[in-house]
Amino acid sequence: MGRANEVPDNSPGKTAVSSDVIEALRRSLEERIEGEVRFDALSRALYATDASVYQIMPVGVVLPKSRADVVETVRLCARHGVPLTPRGAGTALSGQAICRGLVLDLSKYMHRVVEVNAGQKWAWVEPGVVLDELNAMLSRVGLQFAPDVATSDRATLGGMIANNSAGAHSVIYGMTLDHVLELEVVLSDGSVVRLGELDDETFEARSKADDLEGRCYSAVARLAREHAGEIERRYPKIMRHVGGYGLDRFRPAVGAGRPFNLAGIIVGSEGTLGVVVGAKIRLTPLPKAKALSVVHFTTRSEALAATAAALEHKPAAVEFIDRMILDQTEGRREYTRLRDFVVGRPEALLAVEFFGENEQALTERIAQLEQNFRNRGFGYHYHRAMDSDAQQRVWKLRKAGLGLLMSMKGDAKPVGIAYTKDDYELDFTVWSNGNQCAAADIVPGSGRKI
Ligand SMILES: Cc1cc2nc3c(=O)[nH]c(=O)nc-3n(C[C@H](O)[C@H](O)[C@H](O)COP(=O)(O)OP(=O)(O)OC[C@H]3O[C@@H](n4cnc5c(N)ncnc54)[C@H](O)[C@@H]3O)c2cc1C
Repeated sequence: MGRANEVPDNSPGKTAVSSDVIEALRRSLEERIEGEVRFDALSRALYATDASVYQIMPVGVVLPKSRADVVETVRLCARHGVPLTPRGAGTALSGQAICRGLVLDLSKYMHRVVEVNAGQKWAWVEPGVVLDELNAMLSRVGLQFAPDVATSDRATLGGMIANNSAGAHSVIYGMTLDHVLELEVVLSDGSVVRLGELDDETFEARSKADDLEGRCYSAVARLAREHAGEIERRYPKIMRHVGGYGLDRFRPAVGAGRPFNLAGIIVGSEGTLGVVVGAKIRLTPLPKAKALSVVHFTTRSEALAATAAALEHKPAAVEFIDRMILDQTEGRREYTRLRDFVVGRPEALLAVEFFGENEQALTERIAQLEQNFRNRGFGYHYHRAMDSDAQQRVWKLRKAGLGLLMSMKGDAKPVGIAYTKDDYELDFTVWSNGNQCAAADIVPGSGRKI
């Protein structure tokens, strides 16, 4: 294997980190951390991509075995001036999991489910736990972590928290933010903080503390207060709003008697404010019974118009599956069984799911939906999936869709585009020369970038 500086760097623009610094960082990491330190060309190439269209060669990769490893890595990166990007499964679509600095992969070792309290419906997990694996474990006690990203067979809780991910059932379950109770986070100076709901008195005391945590509290409260008007005016009023920092979560909280929870600024911050090393998450009971109606449409616009009508029936999910997904799966052996519910050649499908007490109640709700659609002239075929196997086939087809679109070649392939600092209305000075920075940077002039 070649040394780090011998590896061709095909990223846009050269890394600002000199080969001497990289070598010094590698040596210190190898001396101090228990986990894996990989600065070889193959490892760097493996971590140069995620699910986005971008490719950026990192200077190295660390796979920490413990919280102490994360703390040490953060401190060493800060000391050597090397940017750091945490990473879970690397399924992010806009290049959030790649960087020119050091990649910190929390998925390999830090994936324990530390505690499950089924009675109080919460769990304490490490960030690398994969959603499907967590939910397989929780299903034994009738519970789940409810936000269901399509990449659930590999997406990690750390990545979901940092992206504020949501899934098909966001219409009833909301986003990851709604299910995070507390976070344990390593800040840019290596301090470990536990962020959860604070009453007014504790908030006052914390925000006066002369340390990085204290400055984070006071900065977020001040920004939310000073920019309250702009936030109200410009933050999109949509449920699945994930762009930028969630300062709108704090505006009404400050001074309004609602508990202040700084975890809310970490959720959705895409690894730029600190490294999540533990999370207390809310658990949700599994639905007692489920049923799915898959409505077939001759045009996309008819399916889109029917979506609003479907919402009148208070479904658990409404998923749009269009011709492109159907075309991509047609004639491919692995998808033949999944497509057995498709009748004719629909331009689009709407999968409308209901949760309820039992099958009888669900059958009635599906019948009402179908009647409503028929009355309005929506759809030409209504497929009912009442048992789990039949439902799984529909969901697997839907989940396969985005992966298939992403594997398309040529101009037809849809791509995700990352926004830069200039695209944000509020300037937190957190993006600097394309490198990700940490919590210190939201406090102007107060801290170091990592
Ligand atoms: C085919 C496909 C389908 C998808 N479907 C959905 C969907 O239905 N809903 C949805 O919301 N998203 C979806 N996504 C996007 C992505 O899968 C999710 O956002 C997922 O939750 C990311 O998890 P991850 O473990 O892969 O995170 P990564 O991609 O590894 O990282 C995502 C972000 O989290 C940060 N991060 C990771 N771990 C930590 C940590 N411990 N501390 C601090 N920051 C951290 C990273 O720096 C990065 O900014 C999809 C992506 C693909 C490719």
